[in-house]
Amino acid sequence: MNKVRLRYAPSPTGMLHIGGARTALFNFLYAKSLKGDFIVRIDDTDTERNVTGGESSQLSLLRWLGIKIDETVDTNSSYGPYRQSEKIDLYRKYISELIDSGKAYKCFHTNDEIDAERQLQKKEGKWNFMHQCSHKDLSKSEIKSLEDKMEFSVRIKTKNEGNVSWDDMIRGKITVNCDEIGDWVALRTNGIPTYNFTSVIDDYLMKITHVMRGEEHIANTPKQILLQEDLGFSIPVYSHLTLIVGEDKKKLSKRNESIVQFISQYKDLGYLPEAIINYLSLLGWSPKGHEEVFTIDELIELFNKEGFSKSSAIFDPKKMEWYNNQYINKLSDEDYFTFIEKYAPRELVKKYDLNLRKRIYNLFKPQIRSGIEIKDLTKIFIDFNKYENYTQDFNTVREVLINEIEKSSSFDKETISGIFNILKKEHKIAPKLIFMPTRLMVTGMEHGPDLKESMEILGMKEVIRRLKMYDK
Ligand code: GLU
Repeated sequence: MNKVRLRYAPSPTGMLHIGGARTALFNFLYAKSLKGDFIVRIDDTDTERNVTGGESSQLSLLRWLGIKIDETVDTNSSYGPYRQSEKIDLYRKYISELIDSGKAYKCFHTNDEIDAERQLQKKEGKWNFMHQCSHKDLSKSEIKSLEDKMEFSVRIKTKNEGNVSWDDMIRGKITVNCDEIGDWVALRTNGIPTYNFTSVIDDYLMKITHVMRGEEHIANTPKQILLQEDLGFSIPVYSHLTLIVGEDKKKLSKRNESIVQFISQYKDLGYLPEAIINYLSLLGWSPKGHEEVFTIDELIELFNKEGFSKSSAIFDPKKMEWYNNQYINKLSDEDYFTFIEKYAPRELVKKYDLNLRKRIYNLFKPQIRSGIEIKDLTKIFIDFNKYENYTQDFNTVREVLINEIEKSSSFDKETISGIFNILKKEHKIAPKLIFMPTRLMVTGMEHGPDLKESMEILGMKEVIRRLKMYDK
């Protein structure tokens, strides 16, 4: 059997999005689960829509996520080039051959003429515009004379009868009537071939065995299969992934501002690639009967076509955070320190030595959901805002607490425990008048990390300074 080869083929019209990353991941996992190759091809023929940095964002972030690319623009392989813009002449050669064999033709209609035809068909109630081209059967001399004075596009002839069908690996058999397809443009008037055309040529030349892509491409597949038949190419196995939607069940789009959608943003926010991979793998696939926390290598082992879902996947930012928290907690203390220090406020790094910083970060490890959260969480170690609702009740504990601390020669967790015991036993203060009021007075906040550990880290001087700030 031929080696399995799958490709992810982004157009560099934007940065790597959750949807693209999921498509890349599924192609990668399926290829690797069958010991095949994973290729990234850059579909960049629509030059006007390409954005600077689009290609490098795709490649560098896929690699950051841990998706290993066997072949792409910067690897050596006989299947290259992997940028379609570098192969325009090759595509044109195929187009000429199709014209010569009568399977494609030059269409000299102008955009205005085609627009007028579109309007007319709309008026007649036709929902699916199809250009009825009278240039399909022009004689050689007619073509010659038009060619000298006019621009043209090249269209692929599509038969009007019969149907085209494929066995979609995710959705089962899909059948489309040929009379719904129409003659489609393979070469634009500017001499640049279209996506549907270049994709067929490259999938064939790159020996792609499986094409797995988003459901928005379902309408392209019949065109591509008919062209493969015209050219005598083998037909890959197609599968169309279901949509990723928001809570509102609408496709994720830039308009949905409540959801972070670009991988670079997750990276900046302090998400671990392993967590992103884990969560993305469950958007439209599930490991049926297995637990749902796994590494990319475990995923390769588990991945199979039976796990694909037929309904849309709802993106839940909370679940993504949950995964990130899980993976942060799997980090060794050393790796956690390196990871989290990148997000820590500079004042904190200046103010505390390495050992204390490690202790501060560790205080928050169990709860942290993304790297940048460390900024807010560690605030109590940098600035201090007095607790606003200080009441006279606090005075009892505050005065004795200051006294006891000042008497003490050391200030570690044990001593602090001892001091609290003295407050309880000797001064007969009820625990509820000790712990919460102390936390509120020392940190200014109701919730926070372990109190004694935090007091030790702050140090005796700072704790006394804070307690004394409530003097009237
Ligand atoms: N360049 C296309 C896209 O970004 C690729 C679709 C395909 O996989 O064939 O949607």
